[in-house]
Amino acid sequence: MERIYIGMGSNLAAPQQQLHNAIEALAQLPDTTLVGVSAFYQSDSLLPGQPRYTNAVAALDSNLAPLALLDALQAIENDQGRERLVRWGPRTLDLDILLFGDRLIDEPRLKVPHYQMHLRAFVLYPLAELAPATLQLPDKQTLGDLLSACPFVGLERVTQA
Ligand code: ATP
Ligand code: MG
Ligand code: MG
Repeated sequence: MERIYIGMGSNLAAPQQQLHNAIEALAQLPDTTLVGVSAFYQSDSLLPGQPRYTNAVAALDSNLAPLALLDALQAIENDQGRERLVRWGPRTLDLDILLFGDRLIDEPRLKVPHYQMHLRAFVLYPLAELAPATLQLPDKQTLGDLLSACPFVGLERVTQA
């Protein structure tokens, strides 16, 4: 089993409900145990003019291979009505693999660690609820290093509905 962290986001069609549904779907993945979910956060969209996002991070222990997990996550996104019209457009559900054990993955369809996780407060602060600051990325930086370089800006921890 490897510990995997999934970043979740939604800014369409009842975002909190989208995340609740996604968490249920993650809990039902084969060969996988859902071991934790962060609080929900609201964040400003990276692009102007979009509704605010609701974000959270989930921790899984899984025996799935990385691309099999990516396929399963994309199936959950599709089940929840994800449409890919424009890059970074508003979406019902985004599920990104942030970390997969201590693997460095560089495949056409899958780059892990997620290429922008170190820049995204809406990823790092929820992740810090599930993982210790000493958690090491494949490049030996720790989660604590990333947090100290990423201010808690544009982010709000929300009480779940
Ligand atoms: P961003 O990647 O900047 O968060 P996004 O999540 O909106 O943007 P998507 O449209 O969800 O981007 O995904 C585009 C492609 O990214 C997917 O088809 C997938 O093959 C690829 N991808 C590469 N690395 C990852 C990863 N770590 N997790 C999920 N998808 C990934
Ligand atoms: Mg994303
Ligand atoms: Mg994505």
